[in-house]
Amino acid sequence: MSNSSFVDITMLSPNCNSPRNQPIRKITIHHMAGILSVQRCGEIFSDANRQGSSNYGIDSEGNVGLYVDEGNRAWTSSNAENDNQAVTIEVSNCEYGGQWAVSEKAYAKLIDLCTDICMRNGIDHLEYTGDASGNLTMHKFFAATMCPGPYLEARFPDIAQQVNERLQKGENNASSIRNEKEVEPDMTQEEKALYTQCTFVELLGRLADENGLKNYCAQIPDDVSWEDDLSSYVDDNIRASEEYAQYQRRQYIDKCYHLLLGREPDENGIHTYMQYARFRDIFKNIYQSEEAQQYRNAAT
Ligand SMILES: [Zn+2]
Repeated sequence: MSNSSFVDITMLSPNCNSPRNQPIRKITIHHMAGILSVQRCGEIFSDANRQGSSNYGIDSEGNVGLYVDEGNRAWTSSNAENDNQAVTIEVSNCEYGGQWAVSEKAYAKLIDLCTDICMRNGIDHLEYTGDASGNLTMHKFFAATMCPGPYLEARFPDIAQQVNERLQKGENNASSIRNEKEVEPDMTQEEKALYTQCTFVELLGRLADENGLKNYCAQIPDDVSWEDDLSSYVDDNIRASEEYAQYQRRQYIDKCYHLLLGREPDENGIHTYMQYARFRDIFKNIYQSEEAQQYRNAAT
C-alpha cells in the first residue's frame, strides 16, 4: 500500500495499529485546534504517551506530513471502526478560536491530498452525508468534540464536490502545483531587455553590453508588468555602481564648464575634477577660478 507523493516530511508515530484491519474506504478530516507546522504536529504524535496520531497532517503553508503509513490504522477519530477504514488528515488552523479557519494553502492542499488518496485507493466517489454513513467523515460524528471546527465543517460539501469533479475527470489537477507551474510571464524577455537598455541610457549614457543585459534582465521577475515600477530591479542596482557615480560626476563637470566658463571641459580639467568626491567642491573651484570671473564680467 502506497502513501501520497504530496508528502513533504515523514515522522512515523508509534501510535497506530499495524496493519489496519479493513481496506481504505473513507477519509476523515480533522483540525489541529491550533496553529502547528507539520514538523511540530509530528513531534506531538511521536510521543507514545499521547496515544494520538493521524495518517497525514497539513500545515498553513500547505506542507504535508506523513505520521502513519496508509497501510496502518492511525488513532485519530476516537473510533476504531472508522479509523480502520479511513485515511485521517489533521489540518492546521490559521486562527485560534472563532471559526477555527484554515489557510487557503492548507485548504487547497487538502483537496489535492483527498483526491490523491481516493485515486490510489480506488475510491471513485467521496460522499458527505452529514453523518457517519458517508465515506467523508468528521471527528464529531464519533465523540463529543468541536473537531473539525465550524470553518472546515461548513466546507465538507465543497470538499466532496471538488474532489469528485477531479475524480470524474480522472485527473488530480492539483491547485497547489498548478499555481506554481502555470504562472504566465507578464513581462516578456523583449520587454525586459527594452527596459534594461532604456535605463542604461538614462543612467549611464550607454547601451548595456551582452553580459550586463543578461544579468539585469535576470533581476526582473516574470510576474511584474511593463506598467509596474521596476526601479528596484534595475535602476537601484545601477545607481549603486561605481560607473554610475563616475558618469554623473563627468556629466556634472560638463554642465559646470558650460554654465560657468561657456566651453567644453579640457582633458586636464576633467582629470582633476573626476577626483573630487563632492559636486559642491567641483562647483566652488570652477566658480572661483579666474577664467570664471572673466566669463562673468564679459557677460555683463
Ligand atoms: Zn479531530
